[in-house]
Amino acid sequence: MVSLLVRTFQTIGKFSLAATIGMGVAAGDALAQQAAPSPGSAKAVFGAVTLPTQGPPHSIGFYAKGCLAGAVALPADGPTWQAMRLSRNRRWGRPEMIGLLERLSRDAAKNDGWPGLLVGDISQPRGGPMFNGHASHQIGLDADVWLTPMPRHKLSVADRETLPFTSMLAKDKFLTINDRVWTPAQGRLLMRAASYPEVERIFVNPAIKKKMCDSWTGDRSNLGKLRPEYGHDSHFHIRLRCPPGSVGCTGQAPVAAGDGCDKTLAWWLGPEPWAKPKPSTKPPVKPREVMVSDLPKACEAVLAAPAAASARAATSGAKPADAATETETMPVSGNTPPGNIPQQ
Ligand SMILES: [Zn+2]
Repeated sequence: MVSLLVRTFQTIGKFSLAATIGMGVAAGDALAQQAAPSPGSAKAVFGAVTLPTQGPPHSIGFYAKGCLAGAVALPADGPTWQAMRLSRNRRWGRPEMIGLLERLSRDAAKNDGWPGLLVGDISQPRGGPMFNGHASHQIGLDADVWLTPMPRHKLSVADRETLPFTSMLAKDKFLTINDRVWTPAQGRLLMRAASYPEVERIFVNPAIKKKMCDSWTGDRSNLGKLRPEYGHDSHFHIRLRCPPGSVGCTGQAPVAAGDGCDKTLAWWLGPEPWAKPKPSTKPPVKPREVMVSDLPKACEAVLAAPAAASARAATSGAKPADAATETETMPVSGNTPPGNIPQQ
């Protein structure tokens, strides 16, 4: 039974099962679709854009159905972070998101014994759906952070593409933390991230949630922000609230009160979320691709709006002179073939 569950978990857990319980819209990463998007689909159109719009930030729509104006980029390197998978060109976000990541990296390095963040995907330059890897991350308010500490040395661009993800789970056991890779520092990092009021929720694997429920001895008032979700065993996913006054940004129902170490977690740890869906007698219906016209109307204007002068000019902390002197150096992801990018 256990081995069956493990196999089920490994083979189909991240894909079809997420759909069966309708978690995709709320959760994000689980509903990755790996097929190449058709020309003209929202994934193709937003994936081909290499620069953000000029002007102030606007998150338009919902985390899993929207777009982003006025994005800024997280610098590829900071004193306490390194951005990963640069070829994807997904280190764009609302200034609030970028600022939060920079702050978390500093606070965790100073207080939590966490040397620095390896930052994964945030959003595309103008947000929108991505051709692989995530259902959410569309409005600049979601970010993935690795559960692997930043190495002391500066990773090369090539290393940032290929450094493998390290799961916090034991390979041969069902939903069990591997204590050879998990340390209390990961727990401190998660709770540091959850401590900021602007952080709305954080997605982690159910086994990580359980570990936190069992082991966290500090203040538990933010523990409820850690939400169990498929995947998320090598990274965690930070979601910010719609910033105050952001008209057009659609928030999410707040997390339930309490620490979440309750029957909702017990459900995740039981067989139901991991059970194989019953075979259907009907032929499978191919989901219709999301087109730009399916997104909020304002996203068409975001696509048409003038671009920032350069990636560097739109990077957090850029000096005004950068806008005039920059030549484009940032790798772009528009034509990357889908098969080459590990799903995360
Ligand atoms: Zn994510």
